[in-house]
Amino acid sequence: MATIRKPAPPVQRGENAHPAAFAATSDDSITHGEASAAAISPYDIVRARGVGPKRAALLRERGIATLHDAFAHLPLRYIDMRIRHMIADLQPESDAIVEGRLENLTIKPHRLRSFKALSTARLRDGANDTIRVVWFNLPAYARFPVGEPVLIRGRVAHDASGKLQIVHPEVHPLAETAIAPIRPVYRLPPEVPQRLFASIVAEARARLDHEMRGAIPDELRRAAGSLALTEALDYLHRPPADTDSALLEACDTAAHRALALDEMFAFELALARERARSKRRTGAILDGAARYTAPFMAELPFAPTAAQLHAIDEIGRDLAAPSQMNRLLIGDVGSGKTLVAFWAALRAAESGYQAAIMAPTELLAEQHQRNFGRLCGRLGAMSALLTGKLAGAERARTLRAIERGQIPIVFGTQALIQEGVRMNRLGLAVVDEQHRFGVFDRARLIALGSEANVLMMTATPIPRSLALTLFRNLDASTLDEMPPGRTPVATRIFTEDGAAAVDAIVAGEIARGNRAYYVLPMIDDEAAADGDAEAGEKKSVAAMARRLATSLTGARIGTLHGRMRPAEKERVMREFRDGALDVIVATTVVEVGIDVPEATVMVIAAADRYGLAQLHQLRGRVGRGAAAAQCCLVASRDAGAAARERLATIARCTSGAQVAEADLRMRGPGDLIGARQTGALPLRFAGFIRDFRLIERAGDLAEEWLRHDPGLELPASAGARIALQRMLGFGFSLGDVG
Ligand code: ADP
Ligand code: MG
Repeated sequence: MATIRKPAPPVQRGENAHPAAFAATSDDSITHGEASAAAISPYDIVRARGVGPKRAALLRERGIATLHDAFAHLPLRYIDMRIRHMIADLQPESDAIVEGRLENLTIKPHRLRSFKALSTARLRDGANDTIRVVWFNLPAYARFPVGEPVLIRGRVAHDASGKLQIVHPEVHPLAETAIAPIRPVYRLPPEVPQRLFASIVAEARARLDHEMRGAIPDELRRAAGSLALTEALDYLHRPPADTDSALLEACDTAAHRALALDEMFAFELALARERARSKRRTGAILDGAARYTAPFMAELPFAPTAAQLHAIDEIGRDLAAPSQMNRLLIGDVGSGKTLVAFWAALRAAESGYQAAIMAPTELLAEQHQRNFGRLCGRLGAMSALLTGKLAGAERARTLRAIERGQIPIVFGTQALIQEGVRMNRLGLAVVDEQHRFGVFDRARLIALGSEANVLMMTATPIPRSLALTLFRNLDASTLDEMPPGRTPVATRIFTEDGAAAVDAIVAGEIARGNRAYYVLPMIDDEAAADGDAEAGEKKSVAAMARRLATSLTGARIGTLHGRMRPAEKERVMREFRDGALDVIVATTVVEVGIDVPEATVMVIAAADRYGLAQLHQLRGRVGRGAAAAQCCLVASRDAGAAARERLATIARCTSGAQVAEADLRMRGPGDLIGARQTGALPLRFAGFIRDFRLIERAGDLAEEWLRHDPGLELPASAGARIALQRMLGFGFSLGDVG
């Protein structure tokens, strides 16, 4: 054996090294003493070995703030270390795992920097074939187990003369190291090496053994035949030798199901609690004479769709009943949910109550009030607009009139639920684009009137069957029909080389007096920072706006993105709506719900980056008027097969229902409930759910347990209590489905 200077761990590549071989050597950890001077929880991530304030901050940014979080941070993928390759079969540009012996080790000092070295050896496998192995710039004390049986894992590549070699592999002496059969690879900041994180997980596991509890009480969990949380996490951090790696990669193991079930159990507990609460509340009875609603329906400028009439009928019955309404109105973008909300608001007004309609942006609230004025102005029901812009004496006057009950219908943003707003007799609270609000926003709106009936509206394309399973007793109405005269948005797929064709389509529409959106995934230089300058060129708002300034001569172009101040964003949207801009180049902040009928083209660059639901939402910004609209999906050059399939699907499916069903088929219900997309739900694991039945089972278990221990007061409910707190603490709510 060639040992140079001092014995040290076997040669390893930092990135994928085996967890068990980790030794804490980080100088980052030296500052521990200082950090603990402040009152830091013993479970804070900064307390883990090898983690100092710098790494702790980076981990916290990724949601890993405690040892618990580290333990719950699952591997992104796995490396199957059980595979063995024979040297004779090795292919260039592949990863190889070969068992054999190293011989003929030579170490040449690097010509320029003598403290580093080029090391080469020959690896001989069981079939007596050999291959050259090289390492670059290893620390001089690295130990090469020459002559011993070893496992080598590394990249196969051609050398300068065209022969195959293995480049900079890791080496494990078979006699010494217990090689993990399947090695986890975590998504981590670059400053936190894989093996350091694996050791943090091991430390967390050791310290949390007795307190990491699942939400499902043990007894119930055992009866349900599900793994304990720690068992499931252990399995996923260190899959055993007999693991089926295909199932592991597909997130389809008993461990994955156990984590998802546990999480959905907590979710369903939270839902059940909300439900129980709202059932106990009595609602305002809205059953006045149809002084406003009858003329409203009779004099609409268009015939309501059958779906709108049906929803109105369902809502009308709820409103007239003495229990509080809790209804979700699910309707595709452009299906006409606003009309239904107006009807319900008028119903409240004619029954002697007030209605509050909350929208996520000022622009949307304004749009609602203007449309209300247009459709209902002559009926005599007063309305007011309450947004952050309203200030001073005018705000005071409006608030007073609302408090006295002189204004029955109030439109607004979050300003509605801010200090100082009091309603006289709130009978109906409507939350538009409800997925944009947290539970506390909604709770505060509803708190403006203890008897308020609640109508939540969403365009999230989620199959009705899933919505009903997820939300069980929450009532749902669906607008499954578009107003007549809408031509579905013609959706076409382009490659990056098709930019000129796309611009020509846009130019044509502008010439006809129409408007266009371009949506890009980045604002400006983020891509360049990734060393991906070319992508930045094609995928940033700034670069696109620059390009369009020359390619769309004469077009008035505005930009819109998340780093702009709200007032600025609203100004740009307003100019676009009013026709002062022809084109908006934006990130995905393009406002939800905004109705600009003259916008007839939506161009989505790097469309392969988005999921079906998001593509459908973006596409829904156009095609809202009578004019035929188009959507141009521009696929990146490197788009994968799954992404191309998604684009083909969205081009084929025109309705939200079709998109939702396709999405469910392609991804499974777990992804649709927003576990990964939005962060709106405190769900880490539910993305694993492949099957409705798991959600249903979680709901059944939650109901069963609440019958047993309604107040979650038994010692066995301790885990359930903690998980419930976590759910509620995230501001989640009924109806948060994406
Ligand atoms: P969403 O469901 O996305 O909120 P909106 O309520 O904004 O959709 O309606 C989209 C557009 O369709 C609006 O311009 C609205 O006036 C119009 N609209 C609604 N219902 C009908 C109908 N039955 N017939 C024709 N147009 C309608
Ligand atoms: Mg809307």
